[in-house]
Amino acid sequence: TAKQQRCGFSHFAAGHAPDTAARLTLLGDLRRALDADEITLYYQPKIDTRSGALAGVEALARWQHPSKGPISPAQFIPVLEATSLIHRFTDQALTLALRQTSAWLDAGYRIPVAVNISTRSLLDSAFPDRIAALLHRTGVPGDLLCIEVTEHAMMSDPDTATTVLHRIRELGVRSSIDDYGTGYSSMAYLKALPVDELKIDQSFVKDMTRDHSNLALVRSAIDLGHNLGLTVVAEGVEDAATLAALHAIGCDLAQGYHLARPMSPAALTGTLHGQPAR
Ligand code: C2E
Ligand code: CA
Ligand code: CA
Ligand code: CA
Repeated sequence: TAKQQRCGFSHFAAGHAPDTAARLTLLGDLRRALDADEITLYYQPKIDTRSGALAGVEALARWQHPSKGPISPAQFIPVLEATSLIHRFTDQALTLALRQTSAWLDAGYRIPVAVNISTRSLLDSAFPDRIAALLHRTGVPGDLLCIEVTEHAMMSDPDTATTVLHRIRELGVRSSIDDYGTGYSSMAYLKALPVDELKIDQSFVKDMTRDHSNLALVRSAIDLGHNLGLTVVAEGVEDAATLAALHAIGCDLAQGYHLARPMSPAALTGTLHGQPAR
């Protein structure tokens, strides 16, 4: 039934038959991991393609399982997302990211931080109030926080997403359409969504210097974003040629292994020495 579909456990039982047991084990481990603060955040720089300056960082979840080793967020986020545990996780991720931003502020570095927000958390009516409370508690100005929401999540319920994003914008918080190009958004909704940034999905960026249709898609996404007044980011930049091409076609920001890998807070702080403290 529809009700069972919405409930995490029934959802596991109904679909994904081969790995149901594995997912249930993972869910138990995740409950414990959340209590033990085992999940941490790494930070990957977003770089200005013209100046090479650090424009901000994206927080990416990392889970070091005590016996299974590192588990990718691509594996464990969907498991959390199928239950209401995702709300606790979102709270923890926002708290960690804002505390880190506050620590950087104390050290003299003003670094905007982007946090990935899952569909369920975005569409939760309490979400804007949670953000307001966390900003207040950590003392971080709203404009240093950006939330990244996938195009797919926004399009799952565009009207609610629009309402929530308007409330978040009132706090000064910025928002970004993540994985753009994979979620079938209509131009009408793109125009209506109160977002500030468009992130072109890495699947288009990766081989744009070899695949002409991907280059054309990246180019048109940049034009569309700029026509809507958005900052455009390319993710998954893995070589110098791609970075040069992005710069040539006017992409504002770039992110990827060629520029920097996701790093621990200490490692990222290490790269800041020599950067002007703002
Ligand atoms: P995403 O938001 O699209 O994040 C980009 C992913 O690409 C990250 O993988 C990042 O480490 C990886 N990446 C960055 N540069 C390159 C590159 O040059 N080449 C390649 N091949 N990959 C690159 P990661 O950290 O494994 O995260 C995977 C996904 O898990 C994220 O995709 C995001 O959807 C989700 N995720 C991660 N952290 C969180 C979180 O705190 N909350 C939520 N809701 N989702 C998260
Ligand atoms: Ca992201
Ligand atoms: Ca992305
Ligand atoms: Ca992605």
